[in-house]
Amino acid sequence: MANKELQEDIKQRFLRYTQVDTQSNPNKVMDNHPSTIIQIDLIKMLEKELIEMGVSRIKVTDTGILIAHIDGNVEGAPCIGLMAHVDTADAVKGNGVKPQVIDSYDGGDIKLKSGLVIKAEENPQLEQYKGETIITSDGTTLLGADDKAGVSEIMSAVKIILNDSSIKHGDIEVIFTCDEETGCGMDVFPYDDIECDYCYTVDGGTRYEVETECFNASHADITFTGKSYHTGDARGRLVNALTLAGKYISSLPQAESPEATDGRFGFYCPLDIKGSLDKAELGVFMRDFDLSELERREKTLISLAETLQAIYPGAKVDVKIRKQYYNMVEVSKKNPKVVSSIFEAGKNLGMPLFEAIIRGGTDGARMANDAGIPCPNLFTGGHNFHSLNEWAALPAMEDSCRLIIEILKIGAQK
Ligand SMILES: [Zn+2]
Repeated sequence: MANKELQEDIKQRFLRYTQVDTQSNPNKVMDNHPSTIIQIDLIKMLEKELIEMGVSRIKVTDTGILIAHIDGNVEGAPCIGLMAHVDTADAVKGNGVKPQVIDSYDGGDIKLKSGLVIKAEENPQLEQYKGETIITSDGTTLLGADDKAGVSEIMSAVKIILNDSSIKHGDIEVIFTCDEETGCGMDVFPYDDIECDYCYTVDGGTRYEVETECFNASHADITFTGKSYHTGDARGRLVNALTLAGKYISSLPQAESPEATDGRFGFYCPLDIKGSLDKAELGVFMRDFDLSELERREKTLISLAETLQAIYPGAKVDVKIRKQYYNMVEVSKKNPKVVSSIFEAGKNLGMPLFEAIIRGGTDGARMANDAGIPCPNLFTGGHNFHSLNEWAALPAMEDSCRLIIEILKIGAQK
């Protein structure tokens, strides 16, 4: 049974938040945090609304990160974080959003005001929402369900919890961040200011999808040092660093490239290259869900360097490897309740949750890696992120909110 009152609360928030411009700018992120000052407008709005709900402990950093603390009503229960980001991507126009509400979706194609069409056949997820509420943009901008759906769902969950003392929960930490889309928002995260024992990002898509795993990632800087010589006189003398770099790239297994893999399979990916006859530099990154597979690739890069040195006397190939981030499931394993309570909550609510893996990283993965705080990702009910065809389904947004509340309840149980 849909909870119309809850749906209305989420919808009104979502319409309000999506109309606040918050597009981030990946080109500005090195100089400014947040990359665009407008993101703070929504942070301030959320702060005000939290105060109106009765939340008194709120901190907003000058880099635009909001941390609100809500006291629990169960002694000794763990503190659980709920995290979402306020910025929207810059892949398409993201400011000036005019959300459109379709109250009773007819099951067919959705024609947007701009003339753009969200095709039913390209969006099989739409079918389940026949007769339900769908929200889109007018087709001239993205919608911003990524991640204002998550923001709305967390805010509505907080409101319910504060208004119903029969809900037993531990301390809750609400965290709203800027610049997730630039990948740099967590660079300035105030880990010292948070207390949560574990956390959930509400930044996924498809209804009932739960993401607990992301890639392990490492990066190699490979330097090829050759011997430069006048090319007219180079026979037997020149060792061309560019030739070495080319050989090196062509020796990487093509079956383990991003363009040849999906699912749980990891890869090598040459990322950038520059150089001259005497010196060339190559960046390669490696990804895998399985840490031992990632480390196998790291070793392969080193032995490949040794092989090249053996074949080309006078050549020097240096490999420097650094880990970028780890699969967040490694951190969750230390506290199995983090993941198990998601699925227990889903079971209690009759939601057929399913697990998916992220072929990339998330802010939650950063939190897991930087601070050892497990942080799986929950669905928001949004689709076609970073595009003019973005849409969100209100029943799924309601489900996300109910799931959050149930997870908080389970968190407080022994
Ligand atoms: Zn997002």
